[in-house]
Amino acid sequence: MSSTEPNKYSIEFYPPRTAEGEAKLDMVHAQLAKLNPDFFSVTYGAGGSTKKGTQQIVLRYKTAGSNVAPHLSFGGTDENEVRALLSRYRETGVDRIVALRGDLPSGVAAHHRFASELVAFIRKETGDHFHIDVACYPETHPDSKSYASDIDYFKTKVEAGANSALTQYFYNPDAYFRFVDYCQDRGINIPIVPGIMPITNFENLSRFSATCGAEIPRWLRSQLECFGDDKEGIREFGIDVVTELCDDLLSGGAPGLHFYSMNLSRTVTQIWNNLSISNGKAD
Ligand code: FAD
Repeated sequence: MSSTEPNKYSIEFYPPRTAEGEAKLDMVHAQLAKLNPDFFSVTYGAGGSTKKGTQQIVLRYKTAGSNVAPHLSFGGTDENEVRALLSRYRETGVDRIVALRGDLPSGVAAHHRFASELVAFIRKETGDHFHIDVACYPETHPDSKSYASDIDYFKTKVEAGANSALTQYFYNPDAYFRFVDYCQDRGINIPIVPGIMPITNFENLSRFSATCGAEIPRWLRSQLECFGDDKEGIREFGIDVVTELCDDLLSGGAPGLHFYSMNLSRTVTQIWNNLSISNGKAD
């Protein structure tokens, strides 16, 4: 795996639900902006829970001088709402979007439209204005019929016009490298940037991993369990593990890293500094 393109480093936020959370995120954004990521991205509640919040955070940090990519999905809405949102983003200088199917909350009876349909819609409405990222799954999306079919559907997103992909997180670098090889064999040649989940709260991580289909390897789980309630111990051990993972990925040719920050700055900053990512800044 090699490319002449410089690596891309990005950091993901979710829109806070309270004024207090927003004030905290403003501080986190200010801290992380010092790392000079290529872009921040902001998640979108496909069920409608955080739609306004996504727009507000995107526009606020865009105005503050950051490159920001909103996540977007059809969710349960009609095309007019998505069309209006695309225009608004375009008018305010946003030129990158993360296009997803999204997960509707249980009990919401709406038709799920696949991410490939959204990518095609964005291209139809706005031509080449937006750089479009899509999601992909080195350990297979939980709804998939098979490893192969998941990659075939990933390919439909690329054929619809996606420019690059961000992966679900994982802790086994072989899962990523094998996935990239398989994708290349299937004719998928866009950059596939690994998603990196720092380890801060083991309980939350376990719960989330069970639903999104990301595996916490047995060796890692059993070591994390040894820390019990020692949150700082977990964080420090997690920083070592995730730094090593990122190192392996970058030295194996990964074209960048996408950090799931969970709206926290300290751990991402430490991993970033451990990796000596200067990203265009003088060291
Ligand atoms: P798709 O690519 O549409 O695929 C969904 C499933 O359907 C897969 O199993 C696929 O194999 C299958 N499939 C695809 N096309 C077809 C077809 N034509 N026929 C039959 N099966 C098909 N969720 C949010 O709600 N908000 C966010 O902001 C958000 N951000 C994310 C960011 C990243 C980087 C990642 C990795 C995930 C994110 N998610 C987010 C979670 C994501 O929405 C879920 O994983 C969702 O279940 C799938 O989204 P997708 O875009 O990958 O879907």
